[in-house]
Amino acid sequence: MEVINTIAALKTLLQSHKVAQKKIALVPTMGALHKGHVSLIKIAQQYADIVVCSIFVNPTQFTDPKDLEKYPRPLQHDIEMLQEAGCDLVFMPAVEEMYPGPEVWHIDLGDAEFLLEGEFRKGHYQGVTQIVKKLFDAVDPDLAFFGQKDFQQVLMIRNMVAHFRLPLEIISCPIIREDDGLAMSSRNIHLSASDRQHALVLNKALQYVKDHFSSEPVAHLLEEAKAIINSAEGVELDYFTIADGNTLLPESDKNTPNLVALVAAKVGETRLIDNMMLN
Ligand code: AMP
Repeated sequence: MEVINTIAALKTLLQSHKVAQKKIALVPTMGALHKGHVSLIKIAQQYADIVVCSIFVNPTQFTDPKDLEKYPRPLQHDIEMLQEAGCDLVFMPAVEEMYPGPEVWHIDLGDAEFLLEGEFRKGHYQGVTQIVKKLFDAVDPDLAFFGQKDFQQVLMIRNMVAHFRLPLEIISCPIIREDDGLAMSSRNIHLSASDRQHALVLNKALQYVKDHFSSEPVAHLLEEAKAIINSAEGVELDYFTIADGNTLLPESDKNTPNLVALVAAKVGETRLIDNMMLN
């Protein structure tokens, strides 16, 4: 497995694969890898000949400087995990490599940019699409793999790809959970033992909604889900919604295709998100 730090070296290395008409997949990450990230690598391997994983903690998508500062960076461990997963290439640029000078980025991502995460983390998806576009330009992949865990992110990236008419396929991959249901996340490391226990209400509330979806009206499902979350100590709910997965607008018609329940909450000092498809 090659570990590469510059765009120039990355392009040189990938050139021979492109000439040989190999299919190239990109899995963008911010590191602190867990089984959720590994699952993306494994799925990417089924679709492509060469799998590139990028590790870059992108400053422009952080709205809270403290969050950026404390973001975990266990790089050696990450490299070992990727090696074990059979990843072909790791791209780990420095901040100066991706942002050599001041730049302005603003694109139209549609109305959904400002909902849910966009409401709580203003400008977040501009930063996300800014770096993902740079990574797409550097790798020029045939396919890119993202986790459904960040449901809104996948939608925003699809909108960015449509905006620039990029010739690549975006694949959304299932959420990998701990045995007790907590969605894996690099941020889980910040949870204290009691936070870790309290955090289970996110999955519990989502699962309640899914289990009772056919028998209860949406308004009641939302009420119950919020009550489950509010019952836990130290958990502060940002939102719990049942939405149209294409627009992220609240939806009470159960026949709407692509319905999804989405939740975000602060557990202790750590903000967690999770979601579940309902039909
Ligand atoms: P991150 O390093 O948190 O930016 O995540 C990198 C990619 O891994 C994103 O596409 C995430 O959606 C995805 N991911 C994060 N957690 C999980 C999970 N528990 N299951 C599946 N994919 C995940």
